Parts: sequence; C-alpha cells; structure tokens
Amino acid sequence: MDAENIVTLSEIEKSYTAGGERLYVLKRVSLTVNKGEYLAILGASGSGKSTLMNIIGCMDTSDSGQYLLDGVEVNTCNDAGLTALRNQKIGFIFQKYHLIPQYTVLQNVMLPLLIRGKTRTEAAKMVEEYIRMVGLWERISHKPNELSGGQQQRVAIARALVTAPTLLLADEPTGALDSQTGKEILALFQRLNEMGNTIIMITHDLSVAQHSKRIARLVDGVLSFQG
Ligand code: ADP
Ligand code: MG
Repeated sequence: MDAENIVTLSEIEKSYTAGGERLYVLKRVSLTVNKGEYLAILGASGSGKSTLMNIIGCMDTSDSGQYLLDGVEVNTCNDAGLTALRNQKIGFIFQKYHLIPQYTVLQNVMLPLLIRGKTRTEAAKMVEEYIRMVGLWERISHKPNELSGGQQQRVAIARALVTAPTLLLADEPTGALDSQTGKEILALFQRLNEMGNTIIMITHDLSVAQHSKRIARLVDGVLSFQG
C-alpha cells in the first residue's frame, strides 16, 4: 500500500421513509481518505451532510455499500461494535461544543480517558500537553460558561485529541463563531493537520472549506470532487 487508508466508502446509499415516501439521501457515495489528509465536505442545507457524517462517525449505518474505517468493515458491526469503533478511532468536534457545563476545562478534557479506565492521576498527566496545545492552560479550572465560544471550541478540540483518534471529524466547527474566532480555530486545525492528524470537516461554507487541503462537494446526496 502506498498511503495508509483511513476511510474508504464504496457506493454508500442511505434512504429514509417519511410520510410513506422513500427519500434517497445518499446516492452511491464513494470516498477515500488517507492518513494525514485534511478534507472538507461542502454542501448546502439538506444535501445529506449530517447523514454522511453520522455514517463516517459510526453513529449510523448505510443501507448498502461498504465502509472500511482503518481496516475495519463497519457494515458488519452491531451496535456495540459501532460504539467501540467510534470510541477507539474517532474524535468528534461539533458546532455547539457539547461540553459538560458543570465540569471544568480539565475535567471535560479528562473525561474520555476516565471512561477508558485511566486513573485521575494518569488522565491529568496525559491531558496537559493537549490543553497547552490549544492555549488554555491558564483556564484549566474554568467552567464552560466562563469561556468565550472560541475557547470552548478549543476545549472540545483538546477533548477530541486526548485519545489519539485515527480520524478527527468536525461538523461545522466554526458555525457558532464570529469570523475572526473561526479563523483562529481553522488555523488550529491546520496546525493539527501539519502534526499528522487526519481531518474531515463538514461545512456549508466555501470560505471555511477552502482552509482544507481537498474539497468534496455534496449536492442532493451525490458526492463529487474537483481539482
Ligand atoms: P444536511 O446536514 O446537509 O442539512 P441531512 O443529512 O440532515 O442534511 O438531511 C438530508 C435529507 O434527509 C433532508 O432532506 C432531510 O430532511 C432528510 N432526513 C435526514 N434525517 C432524516 C430522518 N431521520 N428521517 C427522514 N428524513 C431525514
Ligand atoms: Mg446537518
């Protein structure tokens, strides 16, 4: 193999039945993402972005087609298998941060490690470099409501990184931020990619997508590439 394959989607299809009618949301979507890539999936509202993200993130399965995540056949996994894959391989970053409000920065970032059975001492040691990397070491005792939106997103990014995921999957990561703060978060993504992280970022905004190294466009459930 030349490049290490992280994601291979082959002819993925997904439909929903709503009001007795069948709605085809993803149409023979094929996609390969190699280790170290930084891909944006660009699409308008209703184009199927969340549906595709849920499949890539092992939160949902397709009706047909094949999905290989880091060599694992996702289609054949049951719910427990999907959960395990998701926990082991994917770091999620959401538009709305999804931090636990009553936890401090330190506690939020430690949580994925505690869930994996690390002791508090081990976890506290492991998270330091990531909290420093996102520039929040001076804020470790703060709670989310004492932080700006950009700072909260940095906490979410540190939390996504602590388990050393195979893939960072970001859904509109700058969608709730002003444009200057959004640019700072995109600069952080670029740095994480330069450090070797594989990133898929989902967005409706071309100017955001242009910060990635490759853009795939999703139009009415059809994924295509250019350039
Ligand atoms: P996007 O994230 O790009 O806005 P979605 O993936 O959320 O797009 O939705 C794509 C299409 O699928 C939309 O027409 C939406 O209404 C429909 N859809 C999404 N989820 C469901 C569902 N659970 N049941 C029925 N239709 C759905
Ligand atoms: Mg969506």
